[in-house]
Amino acid sequence: MEPTAHIRQVVPGVHMWQPDGDATWGLANCGLIAFGDEALIVDTPYTPGLTDAFLAAARAVAPGAAPDRLVVTHANGDHTWGSQRLPGAEIIATRATLEHQCLEPTPAQLHAAVNDTDPDDPLGWYFRRHFGRFDFSGITVLPPTTTFSGRQDLAVGGTSVELYEVGPAHTVGDLVVHLPEQRTVFAGDIVFAGDHPSHWAGPLARVAAACRRILDLDPEWIVPGHGPLLTADGLRSYLGYLDDLATQARVAHGRGMSALETAHRLIEEDRYPGLGLPERLAITLSTEFRHLDGDDTPPDLLALMEHAARIAWTRDAPPEETRQEEAARLP
Ligand SMILES: [Zn+2]
Repeated sequence: MEPTAHIRQVVPGVHMWQPDGDATWGLANCGLIAFGDEALIVDTPYTPGLTDAFLAAARAVAPGAAPDRLVVTHANGDHTWGSQRLPGAEIIATRATLEHQCLEPTPAQLHAAVNDTDPDDPLGWYFRRHFGRFDFSGITVLPPTTTFSGRQDLAVGGTSVELYEVGPAHTVGDLVVHLPEQRTVFAGDIVFAGDHPSHWAGPLARVAAACRRILDLDPEWIVPGHGPLLTADGLRSYLGYLDDLATQARVAHGRGMSALETAHRLIEEDRYPGLGLPERLAITLSTEFRHLDGDDTPPDLLALMEHAARIAWTRDAPPEETRQEEAARLP
């Protein structure tokens, strides 16, 4: 069973589609910007099935507007893998996102990680727990058709839409979508609300700089890549978290600690209470430590997931019986 979702109006003409559920992977927010008979989509859900649900919700709230343009905030599958459901649409992304796409795991690899791994091993258990709800079959990953660097201006039914490249930050090719008249920003995965982020490119200073750039636009509303809608104050407190985490990393690195040891210590101290998926600290801190070490070789994504999975496993793996029941329920 794929997750359910709801659509809400942020301001007139601008909607946010948010999947239900928290403290999990892959439930990304999408945007609908519709004015007159024109509509622009911001990101697609993870799968074609979820994209059908999103587009049906979009048609219901903006029946007169045809979505023939899609902006992709970055290359992660949970923001792009539904694009085949907009056949013929212009797909707009940064040039760096186009180049980054080949580094992403494929739908087939993710399907295998969920189905062909050992459910009694931390990584197999973790993939099933967080990705087992998605149907990754029949996905064709479409590349962007229009790319840019720096800034790109669009109009949707006469309303200004500004795209700003802010990567490398969360990934190498991030962009944010700004509607100046509506004082709204779609931030992609520059901003996570409610859960710890997992940053793959980094360093944290670049993510923080992207958040400051958003705040400089003076928005009233920020749609994060994951989690509920934020105000500028909400973004400021996320920025406080990023700055603190960068400081913690620098100090721990200076003391000779590893990224993993630092993640374990911060979790033990409960330094960031209330944020879900603390195991993601292992990923973001590994990225940060690679920058502190001056290591510019590509990261081993599977090894990063394995570190996170081991932390989650020791914290909340259910007894074996329950795991077997969960595995039996998978599609
Ligand atoms: Zn995401």
